[in-house]
Amino acid sequence: MAGVPEGDSVTIGKLKQIQAQFAKERDWDQYHSPRNLLLAMIGEVGELSEIFQWKGEVQRGLPDFKEEEKVHLGEELSDVLLYLVRLSDICGVDLGKAALRKVELNAIKYPAKASKEVANKEDGIENSTSADNGTD
Ligand SMILES: [Mg+2]
Repeated sequence: MAGVPEGDSVTIGKLKQIQAQFAKERDWDQYHSPRNLLLAMIGEVGELSEIFQWKGEVQRGLPDFKEEEKVHLGEELSDVLLYLVRLSDICGVDLGKAALRKVELNAIKYPAKASKEVANKEDGIENSTSADNGTD
């Protein structure tokens, strides 16, 4: 696909397949119980958190991070994602389908117009006519 970064074309299904094959080749299926995978994922969330620990708030795009810190961040984000995909697979949950359903539920729970009005009030921004007619 022209203009689309290669990573964006990776599907949850492909990651699921790769993870299943990886575990099978190492005879690790015996260790991949839901509980073990959940605890492993939480451990990786801890490793991910360590990257941001003590840094205070950081800017989007992480302009103050060194290149090796960004590489490390990618590794820890991947560890969390891969365990999440594996956990979903082992539990028999279609993660892509479940995620899309959850987005739909969130859209019902937090209608865009009402949520934007609340956010603007919290930011001290008066509701304007442009926000009300969707032109902003
Ligand atoms: Mg890790």
